Amino acid sequence: MRRAWKRSKDEVFAWVWLAVVLVVTGPPVAAVETLVVEVEGRRHELVGMPLVEAQDGGLLLLATDGMIWPLQPQEIKSRQRDDRPFTLLDRQQLAERLLAEMPGYSVFHTQHYLIVYNTSPAYAQWCGSLFERLFKTFFNFWKIRGWELQPPQMPLVAVVFDSRERFLGYATDEIGQAAHGIIGYYSMKTNRIAMYDLTGADELKRLRPQLRSTTHLNLLLAQPEAERLVATIVHEATHQLAYNSGLQVRFAGNPMWVSEGLATYFETPDLRSDRGWRTVNAVNRLHWTRFREKLAGRRSDALIGLLTDDARFHDPATVADAYSEAWAFTYFLLNRRSEKFVEYLKSLSQKQPLEEDAPAERVRRFSEMVGDLEELEAEFIKYMSRLRP
Ligand SMILES: [Zn+2]
Repeated sequence: MRRAWKRSKDEVFAWVWLAVVLVVTGPPVAAVETLVVEVEGRRHELVGMPLVEAQDGGLLLLATDGMIWPLQPQEIKSRQRDDRPFTLLDRQQLAERLLAEMPGYSVFHTQHYLIVYNTSPAYAQWCGSLFERLFKTFFNFWKIRGWELQPPQMPLVAVVFDSRERFLGYATDEIGQAAHGIIGYYSMKTNRIAMYDLTGADELKRLRPQLRSTTHLNLLLAQPEAERLVATIVHEATHQLAYNSGLQVRFAGNPMWVSEGLATYFETPDLRSDRGWRTVNAVNRLHWTRFREKLAGRRSDALIGLLTDDARFHDPATVADAYSEAWAFTYFLLNRRSEKFVEYLKSLSQKQPLEEDAPAERVRRFSEMVGDLEELEAEFIKYMSRLRP
């Protein structure tokens, strides 16, 4: 996901720049428009509602299937408005739309998700129960901390492929070569999670069909790939939940450390559980280890860098450290400054798409709402030095 995520952010930056240069018009009007667009050589007919409209005719369009299209003026071939109010597709319509896009696939329904898959039904079901467990935990987690999040406006979509090849066929279309280094990602544009079965669980089932499904699942979770698989699924599903619950706003200027800090906070797998995950606030060993290794060389102004410099999350030389630091700081804040941090997140959640704080504004907002950076740095380092998994 990670590099895929980065790509989405790049798209956001391009749009933020556009929004600064051009004057953004007022709040979106909830009427339906039908557009014919041509993006990267392909024609699409889109039905949706403009979220942001630039003076030169560029658009951020929310389509009825939940996708958000950033459209340049030259990509829009025709545009027609009518008086019908905008509504998102319902579950049945959305399932039909997805099956039309992916013929030969099946849809598995859970309470909050719609899983499009070509794996075995058992594998799709396992993914579904993992998502639902995260969903419940996620909403409870914030509710306990004084934030009653909004339920998603439509079922959350996950696409689960049986092989890396099919995953790449789908993902390279959207994110290009970045797809080769990842096993799954959340897309701010499509609002979907896409991933593939890293464990080859279905292959295992085919080779040893006599096994009961629980044995089958235990074998799956016993594989060395399982930890990375579960962490990735939960990480991406956390991004999706954050953007569909009002915690974050898609295409708004969310600092990278916040988005990735939250996703890494929740991603900790627990392979003793039959779903591979059951808890939050566990120490993320991967990021904890990395963060501690770098502690000795830490600069005194490191927090300012974390808050303001999103490029660190994109650069291969710094990306691993940036993720570890985002995890560590988020873990610290949720354990030691929970109330203030939640207020800070609430203030970020009020942002509109394409609305971005300049670096100095990011520091000001954070310091005012959470605390003085120098004092926080001292306490943070002390806390992390004593923390044990
Ligand atoms: Zn992420």
